[in-house]
Amino acid sequence: MTLALVIVLGACVGSFLNVVVYRLPQGLSLWHPPSHCPHCQSPLRPWENVPVLGWLWLRGRCRYCQRPISPRYPLVELVTALWFALAWWRFGTSDSLVAAVLLGSWLLALALIDLDTLTLPDSLLKSGLAAGLLWQGIHGWPDFHAGVLGMVVGLWLLDIIGWVASIVMGQPALGGGDPKLAALLGAWLQMPALLVALFVAVLTGAVVGLGGRVTGRLAAGQPMPFGPFLALGGAVAVLWGATLWERYWQWLQAA
Ligand SMILES: [Zn+2]
Repeated sequence: MTLALVIVLGACVGSFLNVVVYRLPQGLSLWHPPSHCPHCQSPLRPWENVPVLGWLWLRGRCRYCQRPISPRYPLVELVTALWFALAWWRFGTSDSLVAAVLLGSWLLALALIDLDTLTLPDSLLKSGLAAGLLWQGIHGWPDFHAGVLGMVVGLWLLDIIGWVASIVMGQPALGGGDPKLAALLGAWLQMPALLVALFVAVLTGAVVGLGGRVTGRLAAGQPMPFGPFLALGGAVAVLWGATLWERYWQWLQAA
């Protein structure tokens, strides 16, 4: 029963994330007008606006102009619903569940916008960082202190990673928003989970970047957004960061 509720809530949040990803980079209002066809601007009827099901009901086409509506909309709703379910499975009904779904929602929106536009909007970075610090503040002084520390360390570490990567690659490796996204991650995750997030981001980013170059999908000098990799690292770390860190130390001591 709770799981069904969590999944429905996730799908609805995913529906809102679609609006954020589509409208925020264009400077449009998130609240007005209500959802409409991206081609002919016809408004959606309430049941056509139901996450995933509305798109299936329309068979992926606008009722009025018959033009296709991207399958990315129901996919984002599905992924968000799955994320909510995964976080609930990991944490149960708890504080950590709320943190995981909040951070995950910010990360998914930022990753998609970075894929679309190669930029991370400042408004989304600042609001996510503020929400993280507020969240830690609610939990008292040790957590707030750890959040601020995580924020500073994230900012510094990604500046250093970007500096090293640009020497290796012979071109600017990171965008200006990437260190701010690492600061956001640090505020939510704290140390040492932040380190797990950055490790996953650098590793997956390097593998995909090298793979892209080898297979010719990524031309020399062609920029690749790093935000989606930071988001992936953040998602892994919010669920298993502390556990992975402990295992790593146990392994080091055993070796
Ligand atoms: Zn239309």
